[in-house]
Amino acid sequence: MNRLAQATALAATLLLTAAPAGAQTTHVVRAGENLDGIARRYGVRVAAIVAENELERPELLRVGQSLKIPARDAPLRKRYTVEDGDTLGGIARDHGVSPDAIIQLNNLADPNRLRVGQVIEIPLDGKPPPPAVRHPLPASLKGELDRIPVRPGRWKYIVIHHSATDTGSAQSMDHYHRYRRRMENGLAYHFVIGNGRGMRDGEIAIGHRWRTQLKGGHLASDALNDVAIGICLVGNYEKNRPTAEQMRSLYALTGYLMQRTRTASTAVRTHRQINTKPTDCPGRNFPTRALLENLP
Ligand SMILES: [Zn+2]
Repeated sequence: MNRLAQATALAATLLLTAAPAGAQTTHVVRAGENLDGIARRYGVRVAAIVAENELERPELLRVGQSLKIPARDAPLRKRYTVEDGDTLGGIARDHGVSPDAIIQLNNLADPNRLRVGQVIEIPLDGKPPPPAVRHPLPASLKGELDRIPVRPGRWKYIVIHHSATDTGSAQSMDHYHRYRRRMENGLAYHFVIGNGRGMRDGEIAIGHRWRTQLKGGHLASDALNDVAIGICLVGNYEKNRPTAEQMRSLYALTGYLMQRTRTASTAVRTHRQINTKPTDCPGRNFPTRALLENLP
């Protein structure tokens, strides 16, 4: 190593070590690491890393993935660019904070005058808003669902299934339930979420039974079928995992249905958790804990 190279190397070392304690740094995920461990190592909260990197599925880290590690004492906040049609109240609601908190943090003189393209900071109070809140249903689908009348108190549970097949669609399952299983109302579920093989990845199909508010045919107990909404994700989660798009759609749909049926996240169950007969559905790879953690 010549003198110049030595000097450069020394300077680089000094730069690295001279970074002020608590400044933002980057962590590259190694095999076997999870968020809990990484957060502990840097002395920051898991929620801070999730918010800083806008992680959709914190439970799924990739080896080699770069994570921004926020400063140890950095308050949890994120930047948001105002879009056409945004209101302060709407932005606050979507992020689960009060409008006042946003006004204070940004010193907004006139909160009724937000410009499109304006960048504001949103305080995140301890934990980031769940994906079900950050990724609401597409407006057209929400509009369609809003027009279906739902009697208050009609539904008590929201039950998650997998199709246990690699491919499938609402149509193919309807055919199977109607002609092979001889169910006169066809598709036993109220909703089907596609995996890109038979339906678009993450596509949500509204079943006939939801449109007409009929009981489902997805559980062994008839009494439970009468009060349980059935959502089926296309896929076999004994072998595979749901796609990221499917989980996003599931968070959004489940969040919507909880609001619509006025149920809490305790109403959300997997088939295995609620069935009166033993079942493996929705498969050992279905991320039940992540689902519950990502609901409002
Ligand atoms: Zn099932």
